[in-house]
Amino acid sequence: MLVQNSLSEVLRAREELFTRTIWTDPTSQLQNRVKGSELSRYFLLTESERIGIEQTIRLLVSTTPYYLSLSDPTDPNCPIRRMIVPTAEEAVFSLEESSDPLDEERLSPVRGLTHMYPNRVLLFSNHSCSVYCRHCMRGRKVSSSGERMEKADLETAFDYIRNHHEVEDVVVSGGDPLNLADARLEWILHELNQIPHVRICRLGTRNPVTLPFRITDELCKIIERYNDDNLSIFCHTQFNHPKECTKEAKDAILRLLKVGVSVGNQAVLLKGINDDEEIMLTLHKKLLEMRVRAYYLYDPELIPGSRGFRTPLARGIEIVEYMRGKIGGMGIPHFVNDLPGGGGKITIGANWYLGYYPKTRQHAFRSAVTKKIHFSFEPVGSDKESYYPVLSEADWEKFQAE
Ligand code: SF4
Repeated sequence: MLVQNSLSEVLRAREELFTRTIWTDPTSQLQNRVKGSELSRYFLLTESERIGIEQTIRLLVSTTPYYLSLSDPTDPNCPIRRMIVPTAEEAVFSLEESSDPLDEERLSPVRGLTHMYPNRVLLFSNHSCSVYCRHCMRGRKVSSSGERMEKADLETAFDYIRNHHEVEDVVVSGGDPLNLADARLEWILHELNQIPHVRICRLGTRNPVTLPFRITDELCKIIERYNDDNLSIFCHTQFNHPKECTKEAKDAILRLLKVGVSVGNQAVLLKGINDDEEIMLTLHKKLLEMRVRAYYLYDPELIPGSRGFRTPLARGIEIVEYMRGKIGGMGIPHFVNDLPGGGGKITIGANWYLGYYPKTRQHAFRSAVTKKIHFSFEPVGSDKESYYPVLSEADWEKFQAE
């Protein structure tokens, strides 16, 4: 049964939590995580949030004090709060939803490894995270102790990778691999580094966002040790809102960059949180200031209880279209849809290219900057003219007149 505290009690509880946590110590942050019904001590909950906490059909509820400190205790529309606190919509399993929309389990030859693309695999190194994001697409695995990866499971996964010479690139995800103990992460990186055909390792982690103090000097030294001629290590993180771009987060990113790890951002498009052109533009400007390049903007998956987060597909296209011309290309993410049923990712973009007019050998484009129609010529003698969508006479004349 959830209690409902007054605002002064909520503020006092927050102050006590923040005081007793050794703020820059990741272990203390994890030990003082706020879980499940405890959230009611730190927020003035709405009825929808109370139902969400009590009846969520998704992963556990948990946040670090650091991430909680970014949230608003009184405003249910606070974007950070929306990513921490479930709402009633998360308790509804719709017919079109699936706990494994990408068919990752079907494409899993050994426990904890998915082989969807020919030359790369996804390794689930563990099941825990610093914060359990309400929109997480791996809710079927994440936060469930039954999904714990034992050393023997990981050894079997490494054997699979060793025996599949086509695998060049391993995405280490989970859960969050940076929630593993340093020694376990070092062992994983050592094993991957020793496999000659594995050239790329990508660490998928939200710790720079939710627990930046986890990016310690010791951790960075381990990563640096295995980031060498054999193996190139990248980090993919997930900032979803400008409020997450704090000084602490920037310091964490800079520590990773110093050991040669390139950091890219994979935002998720979330209704009521960041499905707004200016918010997304501001987020990516702040990320560039933190030296983080844009990578993906995900269309949220059809996971159980996701109706509260999903936007029409067009919102992602509109947002990325809006960003073009207002920020350098390295700050514009690819809007991607990970196709249900294991079809892999595809990019979806605004239609800047309008078509080809064979009579004059001209292509027509819409400019992101001038908003006008611009033309360019196909080379004389091109053997690719049949490749392009052909403009009708009416469209050609209309574009000429603009
Ligand atoms: S950190 Fe990543 S894996 Fe963990 S809950 Fe959030 S989105 Fe899911």
